[in-house]
Amino acid sequence: AAPGVPALEGVGLVKHFGGVHAVDGVDIKIMPGTVHGIIGPNGSGKSTLVSCLTRYHRVDAGTVTIFGEEAAHAPHRVAEAGVTRVFQVPHLFERVSVLDNVLTGMRMRESYTWIGATVRSPGYRRQDRAERAEARELLAFAGLASRADWLASSLSHGQKRLLEVVRAVATRPKVLILDEPATGLTSSELDALARLCRVLRERGLAVVLIEHNVDFVMGLCDEITVVESGKVIERGDPERVQSSPAVLEAYLGR
Ligand code: ADP
Ligand code: MG
Repeated sequence: AAPGVPALEGVGLVKHFGGVHAVDGVDIKIMPGTVHGIIGPNGSGKSTLVSCLTRYHRVDAGTVTIFGEEAAHAPHRVAEAGVTRVFQVPHLFERVSVLDNVLTGMRMRESYTWIGATVRSPGYRRQDRAERAEARELLAFAGLASRADWLASSLSHGQKRLLEVVRAVATRPKVLILDEPATGLTSSELDALARLCRVLRERGLAVVLIEHNVDFVMGLCDEITVVESGKVIERGDPERVQSSPAVLEAYLGR
């Protein structure tokens, strides 16, 4: 993409549910190679905003662009354009290994050749070896290397959430959106999640973190958008956001 072009951008986004102004005129710009936090009190419209950006909801107003092009009005087309969202509840294949869960993610890539996979050719074996190595590397970033051959069902809640993130990464998105990934994670799992996010940023992805855990966001994000009652009340780097009177008011003034 051309320099300076946002990976994902929403302009003037509005989404009402009856009388509830869940998203009420939001502008947001998410740049490649950054970790972008979206924070705000419960019910402030964070998840709805992401649903607008990913075309999961039809917006009442506003535009969404992905690398400068208008996003198609269908969630699967947004996913094909490289924008992947990980939901709050893990949907893993519980009865297969951790490694196989990651390989499943890789096999959802467009470049993956089903013919290569079904015909047991030398090319297939090479691809398979490379994929397994890549899967293990991603698992190592997430602190799950020693669990690769375990059944997914044997993982702790936090490890399952990390595996869900790794599997999404394996599809090679350009934008990875995580909805409250830190919920229920132990401190070492939080470290693993942060490590994984930093690796993805280095690789040029845009990582979007919708988060409740403000400390986690402040330590990791390059840019933060703060929403309250469907509106952006502050945006900028962690220092700016932390010292913002509007943000203090939103978090403490209730
Ligand atoms: P957050 O993710 O910040 O906690 P949400 O985006 O989930 O907030 O919700 C924002 C507001 O929109 C809340 O008042 C919520 O009750 C309402 N809302 C969200 N989704 C729906 C829906 N599908 N139907 C009706 N109201 C909704
Ligand atoms: Mg939410």
